[in-house]
Amino acid sequence: MKEIHEECGVLGIYGVDQASRLAFLGLQSLQHRGQQGCGIAVEGEDGDIRLHKGAGLVKDVFKEADLARLAGRNCIGHVRYPTTDVGGMENIQPFKMTGKAGRFALAHNGNIVNVDIIREHLESLGHIFSSSSDSELFGHLIGIGRAPNGWVENIISAAHLLDGAFCIVILADGVLYACRDKYGFHPLSIGRLGDGYVVASETCALNSLGAEFIRDVEPGELISIGPEGLKSYRHSLYVGRRMCAMEYIYFARPDSDIEGCNVHAFRKLSGKILFEEHPVPADLVTCVPESSMSAAIGYAEASGLPLEMGLLKNMYVARTFIQPAQSLREIGVKMKLTPVRGVVRGKSVAVIDDSIVRGTTSRQIVKMLRDAGAREVHMLIASPKYAWPCFYGIDTGTREQLIGSSKTVEEIRDFIGADTLNYLSEDALFRASGRTTLCTACFSGHYPTDLYGHEG
Ligand code: SF4
Repeated sequence: MKEIHEECGVLGIYGVDQASRLAFLGLQSLQHRGQQGCGIAVEGEDGDIRLHKGAGLVKDVFKEADLARLAGRNCIGHVRYPTTDVGGMENIQPFKMTGKAGRFALAHNGNIVNVDIIREHLESLGHIFSSSSDSELFGHLIGIGRAPNGWVENIISAAHLLDGAFCIVILADGVLYACRDKYGFHPLSIGRLGDGYVVASETCALNSLGAEFIRDVEPGELISIGPEGLKSYRHSLYVGRRMCAMEYIYFARPDSDIEGCNVHAFRKLSGKILFEEHPVPADLVTCVPESSMSAAIGYAEASGLPLEMGLLKNMYVARTFIQPAQSLREIGVKMKLTPVRGVVRGKSVAVIDDSIVRGTTSRQIVKMLRDAGAREVHMLIASPKYAWPCFYGIDTGTREQLIGSSKTVEEIRDFIGADTLNYLSEDALFRASGRTTLCTACFSGHYPTDLYGHEG
């Protein structure tokens, strides 16, 4: 139903018995970051890397026999979101690769902005790619390195060449590596589990495995976890942190902490600020379940209005039914969301949502509330107007597909049919997160990186 999607989540486990079974559980905690496909690569006692991956949810891709075959104490895992334009099975990760440096497995979250330039260069040198994934490119760059100091130097050399967003986990020669781009677009956290370690895209995965949070992998940092413990290296001295604001607003799970800020707390505070910025004459507050629930709680608490279940989510609609054709998607919204007539009939309803991307979903929500008897519908968006495409691993479509790129707030209000429409200010994102820097490019058009010919 959502018009905006995270593309991936990554996980790494080092030095823990039955690592693949833990990864199987941990990846389910990251499932909200990607549902198209998933995989786990394990390094066995014999040093061999065994891999199982497939299309679908984690619980469906892995059977008992698969997990039994993936025996070992070190592993990496990945969940992937479907993008309609690129590839299928060949893009599901982890990738198992062999290069001059030896055999390794890697998994990656994010988008590399200068991928075309580097890929063309490698292809001119005779490299053949089996997928359209940025991660395979990273693998080629690591694989061709044969630095005397081994993997660390090879990974740092590769990271130097790539611009954009990457959280990458690598398994090679009995060591787990985790590396984050210099801007720190997406989260990557380290936890301690017994004598071993867990690295994950979100702390919710650490919590679900019972791992104790140690710290985040810093932007521009490469860590290695091996027999000598955890070591830290820098691949960049850049210090301008640019965490993706949408991680706080929408992508991450509310029980995750991102760089010291709890996601639910951020959203609740942004809902409070949304009320301060835009009080509306409503009888009740409701959310579009479930991602805007925290912001709706904040708005309701600040306004003193009752928080009601004005919309109900049906968890059991088949995913295939709600994508990808627009006509089916529209029916899918009706199947997936239902107004609670007894709650909204005759009422002025303040609806809190996290974003408006194309506008079609919001329009249907307003219509279904009116059809259910709502007297007024006031849409309140707990983020600024989304007007620019993302090049850092978030699937939003092109600028033409973003309603905020060509329409004013009043024109969008008219399109979705609401009585009022208001957005959170950009300043509120900094207040709610307690940060002075964020990536807010999809709201402001100010991209932290060069776009290398991509059209913003
Ligand atoms: S452009 Fe938007 S969605 Fe993309 S990384 Fe920046 S804040 Fe996140």
